[in-house]
Amino acid sequence: MTKHLQHFIDGEYAESSDGARLNLVNPVDEQIYATAACGTTADADRAVRAAHAQLHGGAWSKLNGSHRAVLLNKLASLVERDLELLADMDSKAIGRSPMEPRMMDIPNAVANLRAAAGWANQLEGRTIPTGGYMGMRTLSYTVREPVGVVAAIVPWNSPLMITSWKLAPLLAAGCTVVIKPSEETPQSALHLAKLCQEAGFPDGVVNVVMGVGEVVGSALCSHPLVAKISFTGSPQAGAAIQRIAAPLFKRVTLELGGKSPQIVFDDANFDDAVRGCAMGLFINQGQVCAAGSRILVQRGIAKRFAEALAQAARSVTVGDPGQQGVQMGPVAKKAQFERVNRYIQLGIAEGAELLAGGVSQSDKGWFVKPTIFARATNAMTIAREEIFGPVGTIIEFDTEEQAIELANDSDYGLAATVWTTQVARAHKVAGALQVGAVGVNCWSPLDANLPWGGLKTSGIGREGGFPGALAYTEEKVITLLLP
Ligand code: NAD
Repeated sequence: MTKHLQHFIDGEYAESSDGARLNLVNPVDEQIYATAACGTTADADRAVRAAHAQLHGGAWSKLNGSHRAVLLNKLASLVERDLELLADMDSKAIGRSPMEPRMMDIPNAVANLRAAAGWANQLEGRTIPTGGYMGMRTLSYTVREPVGVVAAIVPWNSPLMITSWKLAPLLAAGCTVVIKPSEETPQSALHLAKLCQEAGFPDGVVNVVMGVGEVVGSALCSHPLVAKISFTGSPQAGAAIQRIAAPLFKRVTLELGGKSPQIVFDDANFDDAVRGCAMGLFINQGQVCAAGSRILVQRGIAKRFAEALAQAARSVTVGDPGQQGVQMGPVAKKAQFERVNRYIQLGIAEGAELLAGGVSQSDKGWFVKPTIFARATNAMTIAREEIFGPVGTIIEFDTEEQAIELANDSDYGLAATVWTTQVARAHKVAGALQVGAVGVNCWSPLDANLPWGGLKTSGIGREGGFPGALAYTEEKVITLLLP
């Protein structure tokens, strides 16, 4: 019998109010492997009310930072205990090699929960000297209060890790949450909510409502009892959420897409740069917000570099990630398969030189060949739009100034990588790039203590690090008259 997943609301599993269901499809064989409750506005409302009740008089509202730290540490240990199970859930849902979430996503989630346990007790206010009030002395201080109920809306590419980027700091800050996982990947979020119950979080603190973004996601964003929306996903959905949130004055954090440059100077360690660019391009089938898909290479080494990267692309074994020796699985869904192929066709039509890969056919499974375009320009669509697949575009430059100009000539500003052995050049270029994060000689380093977020179309606000936890608080000022 096909497995069926239900919402997790107020500590209990629940069917959708209208009984509707979504199919979860395995991208390797295109078979339905599970169904999931497809939520309604009424389901979203029930979950928000449960979360709100915990903040206003519920058991959660009576716990202090030390209590929350104990619960977060317990939750981290439970996630660690279930690491393989959670990794398998996320990899099966999108056809990704289970090694990647085992080595990266789930350990990162554990680290986020442990870091947040430390922050729970550090959300301190300040004592602020003032000029007094009508000639009398005053004492002014601030306190950090939880912002309220959070709607956490998550994409499908790294489901558990991105959920943890929201859940860990918001719980540290004393907020409660309704998680809206992506349509394709609800399983690990549901398991995480169950682990919260096992760790001892009161029922209603962490809720999961599955379903379609335009229904459940929109209902959460417009709900009067939701104070903050923490969204990761596409710029299109981010803009729709901003439109809903603006007249309601909700707090919004948006982590959106990218078209991140990897700048390879001719003084770089050639082999490290080829390996690093290939990783930044092909990990998770290129379905990564920070994918280093715009590869800017200094002209003197461009031909040799393009050949080496193309060779790296050709040597990737694509297939069922459950099979030994397979390095790359299919892309996550049919729409993604069609989208990536459309961009590859566009690249060819725009006149970029196809060095490896190309348009893929699908007999069964949404497998895309790792693809490298060379001799492209930054004006081409494949250099400007986020493809979200294993497709790299190589653009040549002559000088440092040109590299910086090309890198910044983008609607996006999420991340960048600089490959060079010159220390001064590394600092100079990193400082000039209009992005939220720069890796020098390393593609996209992630850490629970580092802020993450983008400029321009890549989003608003930062997640991660202690400031990420502060973003789930409001700072209230209290002034006492001292006559
Ligand atoms: P998406 O925007 O289609 O969906 C993301 C989530 O938003 C899903 O849960 C979806 O159901 C929901 N949603 C969609 N429309 C909505 C609406 N109108 N109102 C409320 N909720 C809505 O994105 P996706 O295809 O799942 O993910 C891919 C995108 O996510 C890419 O652009 C990628 O770059 C971005 N991403 C960004 C980061 C980051 O940290 N900056 C990380 C991962 C992914």
